Amino acid sequence: MLLVLDRDLDAKGQAHLEERLRWMGLGVHRLLREGRLCLYLMALESSPLELKGFEELRGVDEVVGCEKPFRLASRDLHPQTRIVEVPHVRIGQDLAIMAGPCAVESREQIMESAAIVKRCGGNILRGGAFKPRTSPYSFQGMGEEGLRYMREAADTYGLAVISEVMDSETIPMACEYVDIIQVGARNMQNFSLLKALGRAPKAVMVKRGPSATYKELLMAAEYVLSGGNPNVILCERGIRTFETATRNTFDLTAIPYLKETSSLPVIADPSHGTGVRRFVPPMARASVAAGADGIMVEVHPDPDQAVSDKDQTIGPEAFAQLMDEIRAIAKVVRTDHPTESFRIS
Ligand code: PEP
Ligand code: MN
Repeated sequence: MLLVLDRDLDAKGQAHLEERLRWMGLGVHRLLREGRLCLYLMALESSPLELKGFEELRGVDEVVGCEKPFRLASRDLHPQTRIVEVPHVRIGQDLAIMAGPCAVESREQIMESAAIVKRCGGNILRGGAFKPRTSPYSFQGMGEEGLRYMREAADTYGLAVISEVMDSETIPMACEYVDIIQVGARNMQNFSLLKALGRAPKAVMVKRGPSATYKELLMAAEYVLSGGNPNVILCERGIRTFETATRNTFDLTAIPYLKETSSLPVIADPSHGTGVRRFVPPMARASVAAGADGIMVEVHPDPDQAVSDKDQTIGPEAFAQLMDEIRAIAKVVRTDHPTESFRIS
């Protein structure tokens, strides 16, 4: 339930109201909705809040109910798309282009990748330093050293950094280097990780689990939001189906569904979504046309030599061409977003 506060309620009145609600045993979150300060109230599922009575409280203008289990992520409570602001890009407003190798392999490789990303018009450098590999014998990532190289490369070229964290223990260290923490598909329902990220001082991108429904993805995001972190991004990265021709089945419909249902920015990852290099550009173009707030693409200076995910990694020329195409599509479909907000270097 959401309490829309009186416009003229002063700070003292707001604090008093919050204190009173907490005293009633409710969780209280502040949020802005259409420019109005609101208090979002949380009660346990087993004792749903009744709408009655709250209008009577001093300082409350209106009471808005929300039936959805993913209340904070839902568009009902937050009609406008949330803006997740990180250095160099306002995700949700600017088109976010997250690009870079699957894994950080060396300082030279990530420096070269960052140069390509920037040159082509990307704004966020991706790269895994902690890799969730199916086999324990596969390359597991460079760890903290990899994050250090990513930060250096991103700062050199004026990019933000996104990288995956697989466990709660690594969060404080990762926060020293990254701007966005990625929750990988395999960890989408790692609830202790999600809860810890609710307290993290960085934005979080939650990738859809390989067999997760839209609702399960939204509930995963809700864990982070309800922990107190408002900077959450959703990512469609394909799901496992009976089809074997592609690595995953890229679910394009997830984009308009999530955009309609949730106020969180939605990113599409056609690299993991298809697993096939030549299908990445068409699915990236389709994602932007379908309303995605950005894309995540695996790009490597020499894709055939990539240590992981080379079959789905594109090279500098393909990425440059894709960016030209995406700019043209964004100009047509993102008419409600000022085009100057799609920053191009
Ligand atoms: C990745 O982005 O490198 C990755 C491992 O993705 P996913 O968790 O979607 O498989
Ligand atoms: Mn990968």
